[in-house]
Amino acid sequence: MLKLEQWNKSFNNNQVLNNIHMEVSTGDVLTIIGSSGSGKSTLLRTINFLEQPDSGLITLGTQTYDVAHVSKQDILAIRRQTAMVFQNYALFSKKTALENVMENLLMVQKLPESEARDKASHYLEQVGMANRMDYYPSRLSGGQQQRVGIARALAIQPEVILFDEPTSALDPELVGGILELIQDIAHNDTTMILVTHEMTFAKEVSDYVIFLDQGHILEDGSPAQVFEQPKHERTKQFIQGFS
Ligand code: ATP
Ligand code: MG
Repeated sequence: MLKLEQWNKSFNNNQVLNNIHMEVSTGDVLTIIGSSGSGKSTLLRTINFLEQPDSGLITLGTQTYDVAHVSKQDILAIRRQTAMVFQNYALFSKKTALENVMENLLMVQKLPESEARDKASHYLEQVGMANRMDYYPSRLSGGQQQRVGIARALAIQPEVILFDEPTSALDPELVGGILELIQDIAHNDTTMILVTHEMTFAKEVSDYVIFLDQGHILEDGSPAQVFEQPKHERTKQFIQGFS
């Protein structure tokens, strides 16, 4: 599970995340929706400490960390528990699919080479990339690159996987396959936080939905509550914009 309490982030004088409270239980999918600039990516990036949060508490499993007192070791531990899947895949261009998945297993988890190779192969097979393990990213389609990105996140067996608009850079005909893969992973009891503009998918896959508006959680609840009976006019307008 992952929990955030009193979570804040500003850039200069711009408060981008304002007192965020949220929790995702083990095996659940929490989806974050909201307009451009509402703070969705910043929220994911602060969870992973790609951006340093200003203040707040983060709980991963049984361990709670206070942002005011996190050490470098704590940040490494938090990163090991929170894998990111990026919109633009963010693969190393000079490494093969297999080497991309092996990288963190070798460098962060310090696994021996043969163990890292076996584990990376296993997860690449799981995402349908058994036949492409030795390909460089430039020879893979966007959908295939994203499969590698997902395998890389799965391979480190984190507490939670953070997906930031994982299909928004894909050609339309490749989107469905990646959404199916994410759904399969969700059914395997992977805990995830998902930022997406795919509203139909969000309705199906989510256990809980948060509508972020200017860095505040304006509305949250089950997909049925948020999508079918939104309390706020802002939420209603936002959702209608996608139908
Ligand atoms: P989108 O749907 O377009 O991806 P988003 O909800 O992910 O939007 P963020 O990228 O989190 O939005 O940005 C939220 C706000 O924070 C924006 O006003 C943005 O300009 C600002 N911001 C984000 N990153 C930085 C940064 N590194 N430096 C300064 N301001 C930033
Ligand atoms: Mg974003």
